[in-house]
Amino acid sequence: MTEDAIDEKAMEKAGQILKEGGLVAFPTETVYGLGGDALNPESSRKIYAAKGRPSDNPLIVHVCRLEDIPPIVQEMPEAAMKLAKAFWPGPLTMIFRKNDRVPYATTGGLDTVAIRFPSNRIAQALIAAEGGYIAAPSANKSGRPSPTIALYCKEDLDGKVDMIIDGGEVGIGLESTIIDLTEKEPMILRPGYITQKMLSDVLGEVAVDHTILSADSKERPKAPGMKYRHYAPAGDLTIVEGAPGRVAEYINRELAKAREAGEKTGVICTDETKSLYHADCVKSAGSRRDEDEIARELFRILREFDDEKCTVMYSESFRDQEIGDGSGNTEGQGGFGMAIMNRLMKAAGQKIVQV
Ligand code: AMP
Ligand code: MG
Repeated sequence: MTEDAIDEKAMEKAGQILKEGGLVAFPTETVYGLGGDALNPESSRKIYAAKGRPSDNPLIVHVCRLEDIPPIVQEMPEAAMKLAKAFWPGPLTMIFRKNDRVPYATTGGLDTVAIRFPSNRIAQALIAAEGGYIAAPSANKSGRPSPTIALYCKEDLDGKVDMIIDGGEVGIGLESTIIDLTEKEPMILRPGYITQKMLSDVLGEVAVDHTILSADSKERPKAPGMKYRHYAPAGDLTIVEGAPGRVAEYINRELAKAREAGEKTGVICTDETKSLYHADCVKSAGSRRDEDEIARELFRILREFDDEKCTVMYSESFRDQEIGDGSGNTEGQGGFGMAIMNRLMKAAGQKIVQV
């Protein structure tokens, strides 16, 4: 179905499945979600089991009306109202202090709850049909790239989900930005489509959890899920950073060695550099001028490497050159490149080479 032609009958059925404790995969504007009743601890347990997700990695609760938030939180900070006005419905998740209605099974044992109001109208219709609160992580097996089409949900979750709602290809392909509003200073815990700059334009100063972009941090990120190696293809992925010509030269040299050793090779590059590479699978994530496209294509490419059984892969870096200083110092980086880079580094298990 599409956002403009929502199948009411199917929605009613899906809502019923959720109310009875079942699971439904559905499209959101970021990636496909695996939904269950957020206020039912059994449903949340089922979500963890279906994904193979570590149970200390809390779920995001999806709502379809602002007025559904006060009933499940201790307080609604003024900053939340401002952000809601600016970015909801949309790809922004806010962390609140939870009240007793939200089970610890949903929040991974935390006293806080992550809440998002998605803009996808199929998601909104499903939340309304369920009665208000759907817990939904991305609809992939834990550790696999997030699904951007219904087929990928089926590949990962077949038999473990009661219904998959096919809403076509989703638009953004990057998960929501997560901002913590429970401390004095608002802090970004996961970079995403809504950038630091967009948030600070509304709130003034906004910090970034510094553990999420450093390769060798021993500190734990504040969003528990950020510590896991996510989005990972089955093969070995390395990011290469430096001047474009040098990057291509280095990658081609390493790939030639890998091929000689019998590996199947892959490269993630851009339209501007695609012709420079020699590998079994050369994949452009789009033009460097179009970060939206790069974000969308990235998860798909990581999946395709698995489909094509690539074993050794290299990727160009997508650090936000305009805002970062290119030296590996990501302080002050506020653009969308931060979100792309954060995902890519997780896919690569933090392996970055400077050339
Ligand atoms: P996913 O649903 O797979 O996109 O992941 C949800 C992300 O939100 C994970 O990184 C979680 O750690 C994070 N998250 C959910 N609830 C909280 C919370 N209460 N506090 C901090 N991070 C959270
Ligand atoms: Mg996920």
